[in-house]
Amino acid sequence: MLLLNPKKYQDRGYPDARSKEIMLKTIEFFENKGMQKMKDDTFSFEFTWDFAEFVKKERIFETLFLPKGYGDPDQYYSTYRMYEFSEITGFYGTAYWYMYHVATLGLDPVFLGDNEELKHRAVKTLRENPCCGFGLSEKEHGADIYSTEMKLYPQPDGTYLARGSKYYIGNGNTASLITVFAKIDGTDEYVFFVVDSNHEKYECVKNIIMAQNYVAEFKLHDYPITDADISARGPKAWDDMLNTINICKFNIGSGATGIVTHSFYESLNHAAHRNVYGKFVTEFPHVKRLFMDSYLRIVGMKLFGLRATDYMRAASAQDKRYLLYNPIMKMKVAIQGEEVHEMLWDIIAAKGFEKDNYFSQAVVELRGFPKLEGTRHVNMALIAKLLPNYFFNPAPYQEIPKMNGAQNDDFLFQQGRTRGYGKIQFHDFNIAYNSVDLPNIRVFKEQIKAYQDFIMISGMELGEQMKNDFDFLLAVGEIFTLVAYGQLIIESAKIEKLDDDQLDMLFNVFVRDFSRYALDIQGKSAATPAQQEACYKMIKAPVHDEEKFERVLKNNVYSLVDEYIMNP
Ligand SMILES: Cc1cc2nc3c(=O)[nH]c(=O)nc-3n(C[C@H](O)[C@H](O)[C@H](O)COP(=O)(O)OP(=O)(O)OC[C@H]3O[C@@H](n4cnc5c(N)ncnc54)[C@H](O)[C@@H]3O)c2cc1C
Repeated sequence: MLLLNPKKYQDRGYPDARSKEIMLKTIEFFENKGMQKMKDDTFSFEFTWDFAEFVKKERIFETLFLPKGYGDPDQYYSTYRMYEFSEITGFYGTAYWYMYHVATLGLDPVFLGDNEELKHRAVKTLRENPCCGFGLSEKEHGADIYSTEMKLYPQPDGTYLARGSKYYIGNGNTASLITVFAKIDGTDEYVFFVVDSNHEKYECVKNIIMAQNYVAEFKLHDYPITDADISARGPKAWDDMLNTINICKFNIGSGATGIVTHSFYESLNHAAHRNVYGKFVTEFPHVKRLFMDSYLRIVGMKLFGLRATDYMRAASAQDKRYLLYNPIMKMKVAIQGEEVHEMLWDIIAAKGFEKDNYFSQAVVELRGFPKLEGTRHVNMALIAKLLPNYFFNPAPYQEIPKMNGAQNDDFLFQQGRTRGYGKIQFHDFNIAYNSVDLPNIRVFKEQIKAYQDFIMISGMELGEQMKNDFDFLLAVGEIFTLVAYGQLIIESAKIEKLDDDQLDMLFNVFVRDFSRYALDIQGKSAATPAQQEACYKMIKAPVHDEEKFERVLKNNVYSLVDEYIMNP
């Protein structure tokens, strides 16, 4: 079974017992805590101290976060394990997921940095307090990192004083290691250094949000810093900042997948047992379609995430394809989750408001996911640069196998300069699309061809249109994203042995999405008459097969009724 079911946690093909152990213990922690206590803590805004305590006792973040050469002798960093852990914590609640997510964000600049002693110090700190923090954002500047105002003021004795404030910093109430992004006073030189929230010169001003998490505003009042606290300076500090986000935004997609998977079980169980007008809710035709589409979209999220994991792990100086799949994981997967929630809520209606279930909090919390680590716009702006090479200039690559082994993901900690994005090449997407012959994939291929024609008709003007009109860029980029999304899903379906019925049904959904997105481009004010004409050719109907629909509904969707219920 592809979807996460913590009660039937199968062998995920881990290369060692420790990997499996941390996942099983985490599931056990949440199931022992139970739904009621989890909800009580959510509503009382109780910070996730119990989770922090558990993670510390079981040394879980050490196993997950540290690259080879730090921590235990057999330590390695694996995006595969990170994926699975992120999915599990998302499944049980965003508060736990967020504590984990910002802890890894906080630690990574140190391990990307140049200060070897600081790395060993960070291991010790992590063992004592697993909550780390990432101090990048500032109140007045948001996504505009160039305008960072936090500063290090050089002192006559060669040390520094840190002065300034940061805003929206997770774990900022308790972290013993917070990496802070700043500039050296009087220069434009960037710097990354670490501070401890327990230091007297650190003021935790307030929690900016009303939630279980602590998303802090903090101030540094002439906080003393020496070279021993600095992880990187200059362009390297800038690159470490962006490369940290590159590693960690992957968690957004896996966390979102966990969240909607739990919501899906709750909704299905409720609908299957609710009888109105003499019928179970699951028998209504529109509900069947909503459950079908919800299930398929989650399958897509999961398949994409697993395959994108392989490309993250296989990344190298010569293979930077992860820089396309990673923003898609962050943006597209999270937004797919929102679409699933919309459908599930349409089915369960009033039940979706009830305070005693997971759904009511999940539906609110998931909405934040596409907005973290760069908005949809910012990620799409990145992706759009890759469009010409993806469609018209492929390169040969060795096929990447499933990467769930014990190798360290070396390259993620040596990503180097964050330049030359537009030069990245990809393997030919036709390889995947031509490897299967299914009715809806055939239609989808015709749509891709029509999209390529749209790009050709647009010519050089397309680049200018997208540069001048972000709204247009978003619409055009949505289809590019869908093509790459579908490609990795086909690759993944083979590895995970998804049957043809489900794969074809999944592309039935994507054909409809494609048509919707084409209509969206067509309606944009920037679209020329020639482009509008080209858009109509992308609009196609999927191939419907009633027998196939009923088969998948019975064998794969409704067979999940009562398969997972969280302990009370
Ligand atoms: C719950 C929560 C937790 C967070 N945790 C952390 C944390 O632990 N550490 C941390 O450092 N930060 C954290 N953040 C901050 C988060 O990363 C910010 O949302 C981010 O810095 C963007 O800033 P902003 O939301 O103020 O958007 P703004 O910068 O105000 O952007 C507003 C709009 O402008 C658009 N825009 C911005 N730049 C561009 C561009 N170059 N091109 C086109 N459009 C653009 C955006 O898409 C957006 O629609 C957190 C935020 C929240 C809400």
